[in-house]
Amino acid sequence: MLTALNKEGELFTLSGDMRNRVPQLRKHERFFCPVCKEPLILKAGHVRIPHFSHRHHSQCIETASEPESPRHLQGKLDLFEWCRSNQLAVSLEHYLSDIRQRPDLLVEKAGRQFAVEFQCTPISVQSVERRSLQYLSSGIIPIWIVGGQPFHKRRANDMFEMTEYLWSQTMRNNGQTMLAGYEPESGRGFLLTNITPYTSRKVFARLHQWPISKIKYPFPSFPARTNFPYKNWPDEKMNWIQQKVRYGNLMRDSFLRAVYMEGSNPFLLSPLIGLPVKYMESFISHPAEWQFFIWSDCLKKLGTGKNISLKYVNYKLRERISNGDIICRTLPLHDENQWEKSVRDYFRLLEELFYFQRAGKDLYRMIQVIPWPSHVEEAKLWDIDIHDTLINNSG
Ligand SMILES: [Zn+2]
Repeated sequence: MLTALNKEGELFTLSGDMRNRVPQLRKHERFFCPVCKEPLILKAGHVRIPHFSHRHHSQCIETASEPESPRHLQGKLDLFEWCRSNQLAVSLEHYLSDIRQRPDLLVEKAGRQFAVEFQCTPISVQSVERRSLQYLSSGIIPIWIVGGQPFHKRRANDMFEMTEYLWSQTMRNNGQTMLAGYEPESGRGFLLTNITPYTSRKVFARLHQWPISKIKYPFPSFPARTNFPYKNWPDEKMNWIQQKVRYGNLMRDSFLRAVYMEGSNPFLLSPLIGLPVKYMESFISHPAEWQFFIWSDCLKKLGTGKNISLKYVNYKLRERISNGDIICRTLPLHDENQWEKSVRDYFRLLEELFYFQRAGKDLYRMIQVIPWPSHVEEAKLWDIDIHDTLINNSG
């Protein structure tokens, strides 16, 4: 840690000039943990960044996160200095006793508080969620900044691989999903913007990076993409289906089981099942999965001229979510029940393709029977046809 109490009980941070005074401080000062009040050791070496540490066998909750990596210490200090140079009120490792959290940085701007966590080692998605919700419950906005560039760039342009750990730290900003990062070794900050999934791990995104000194608060903003880069969506969907059939377990996979029980097979799905929609990152499940369940639970028996409400569709989908047939993604920094927005966007597309008509605020009327191909070639042609229409419509 970089912040401790001195013997007068004042907070003391090892940043800037203080770091040159370490030999004197070690001789003349005593430091205590702001959380447990135990005496701390001031550690310093030729290479290591000066920092405070608990004694062995300490029971303090802070020791759970120690020892800190040099990357984490350096990154915290850099981000702290960055905030100060941008005239933000910032404290390092401020202990919030009511929620027992100690964010790396606590920033105040225009009466709002932000907890910045600079996360260098992967932690569980559940911890990201728990800590984020604790901050939110105290009216503090959490901001996660990942250490380094832990996502992998694939050979194709603008394609990256993400883990659920990284997904859980994404924010929803300016009509898009983004992830912030900082790499202390190079002093570069980066933003991955417009993150849109192809599959649960493979995403389309834009990577922007700058030296941190060139970044001015607030973060630069980028326009949200209005049209999908989905020219190769039919191919990507086909890849996903092939993988699913090859490696999926028919006994355990509720999607495959349900498709076969309908007397169909995954290569002969309706072209309206598996459409790319806005907010589809809300699900870990592929759009083909949740849209298939919408068809089998809600649309299969609906005749033309009949109405269906989104409320009912959401209700049926929520059942599938609670029994594990559909998996939602943990996105603590996004809206609650964001997946309902992707259902709404799905019906907007079905309307655009003239299968449904708006019949009220929350109501859709089926005007055309949902088509099912009778052989694989037909399925492929319809798929391409529908996606061409969507691409043309989105301009
Ligand atoms: Zn302590």
